[in-house]
This record gives sequence, C-alpha cells and structure tokens, in this order.
Amino acid sequence: MSTLAHCEYAPCRTSSKQENFSLLSKFSPASSHPLKYLLFLATLLVLASLLAAPGTAYSKSHDESVVVTGTMEVIVADTPQGQVIMTYFLHEDNSTQIYELLFTTISPPENLTGGQQVTVTGIPEGNQLQVETIELPKPNGKLPVVGDRYAVVIMVDLQNVKASTRYTRDQIATAMYALDSNGVPAPAGTRSVRELYQQASLGQLNFTPDTDNNGKPDVFGPFTINYSYTGTCDYQNWTAAAEAAAQQAGIDLNLYQHRVFVLPRYSDIPGCGWQGLANVGCTSFCRTWIAQAETPMTYAHELGHNLEMGHAGTPAPIRRTMARLIIPTATILTP
Ligand SMILES: [Zn+2]
Repeated sequence: MSTLAHCEYAPCRTSSKQENFSLLSKFSPASSHPLKYLLFLATLLVLASLLAAPGTAYSKSHDESVVVTGTMEVIVADTPQGQVIMTYFLHEDNSTQIYELLFTTISPPENLTGGQQVTVTGIPEGNQLQVETIELPKPNGKLPVVGDRYAVVIMVDLQNVKASTRYTRDQIATAMYALDSNGVPAPAGTRSVRELYQQASLGQLNFTPDTDNNGKPDVFGPFTINYSYTGTCDYQNWTAAAEAAAQQAGIDLNLYQHRVFVLPRYSDIPGCGWQGLANVGCTSFCRTWIAQAETPMTYAHELGHNLEMGHAGTPAPIRRTMARLIIPTATILTP
C-alpha cells in the first residue's frame, strides 16, 4: 500500500534543536493586519526585482543580510489561554542548517505554510534569521487534502510524568476512531476524529484506523523515554526518543503521514504552555503533539493544522475549502 500518495513536499523537520524548545514561549501571536500585508507585498515586489537570481542558496546581500532558500516548516501551538503561537523554521537547501525565522519588522505572509519552498532575505544571528523579505511560491490552486490519511498515535511517558497515568490506549483509540484498542466498535453515537472528518468532508477524508493491517487501531505505547520533566519543554528531544523507541518496538513509522504524540497532560508539563502543537501542512509526514487528550477535539484540531487548516476567524485568504470547517480554538478549551 502506498501511504505517501498524498505527499507533496520535502520531509518535515527531522532535526532536534535544543535551542528551539523554549522559544515558543517568548513569541507573540502572529500579526496578520491586512494593511501590513499589503505593505509587505509592495516591499516584496520592489525587493524581488532587486534580488539576484535565486540560484545561490546562501549568498551575501547588502549590509549583513543574507539570502537563504529552503523549505518552510510552520508549527502552531494552541495554549490553554486560547492563544495561538506560530513558530517558523526554514530548512536551508542542501544544508543541515535550520533557521528560526523571526518576523519583527514584517508580518509573516498569511499563506505561509509548511513545505513551501521560499527565499528569505534576513539578518542572521546564530540559528535565527531576522526576516527582511520572504518570497513565496506562486499560488498553485491546490485542492483540499482528501482521501485516506494514515496516522499513528504514540503515547509518551517521561520518567517522572506520564501520559499513561491520565489516559489509556482504549481512550485514545476511541477518541480517534470510535474503536477500543482491540478494534471493537464503541457504542453508536460515540464521537471521534474519524467521524468528524468524514462528516465534515462529506465522506472524502478518512483517517484510517489500522494502517498496519493487524486488526487493531494503530495506537501504541506508552513508551517510557529516558527523559524527566525538569521545567523545560524539551518536546523535540522527547519526540526523537519516542520515535526511536517506537521503531525499536517494530513500528514502521514510514507507513504513516501523521505522527501523533500523546504527551503527559499540559498541566503536568507546564513549561510547554500548550494543549496541542502541530505542523502546519504535511510534507512526506508531519507531527502533532497532544497535551490534552481528554477530548477528540484536541486531536481533530491539531490534525486540522496538519491538513493546512487555519483557525476559525483567520483572515482571508483561506486556501482550503475545509478550512471553513475548522473547530474554533476555544472548543478544545472547554471539554
Ligand atoms: Zn490551533
């Protein structure tokens, strides 16, 4: 079975960078003022005409600015207070360098999403790039994501705080697919992520419960990783360790487009500050982190970001038809 039939881009983030973990907390929510955006576009048009041909991945521009081309990774965090915090990473072409893009002088373009090939002019400082201009690909009129989607759910226990003290595989499988962990259907009327997307897409989008075809929903763990929670949201290292543990246990992560991590509850890892986190857009695969797994809505919301949905109330342009169906952030806050 080809599980990658819908993949459109280069791989999602695979690197783990310590310096990125705590940065989420100091970002302010992305501004998307339309006037700023128009000004940005005008600036971009002028600067684009001045830029050298984008053949060089990394070349000196004026002053200390550099021009970097690469693939975008966008991560959205949904906080318990209802805030939305966007973080932007640029994976430089032909390099292992990953820049965190800081938008302090211009606003991020509204249609900036994971997997896009972009050219950024900015001032580098360590692994950060203060963005002066960003050149996006031309809109290509992509259709909404439809068809079968393949997700694996992995429960993650740290040494001292555990997802498994709060949740069971049965609960998670029920939230995702209205099945217990052995594949036995939940009582009629049980709401699930799968049901929600099937209804919202008029049957066109299906989260497949049993991609590995063993008769049981693909919900695994808990895997106890060799990390303790010490106040820092070290989620990227937790993720790398959990993926290693899962693969060691014989789970073929390559079967799946969505890697869903059920972490200890957000109140048990307050340094993270979010109930859910997700890649915006999905490349060959993408990740979703759930820190409030009591309700299917958290999963549905974060997986929606993987499918490039924005938040209800997100200003135009909304590119995906299904974006109109996105669940308001507030929904996940009132289970
Ligand atoms: Zn969200």
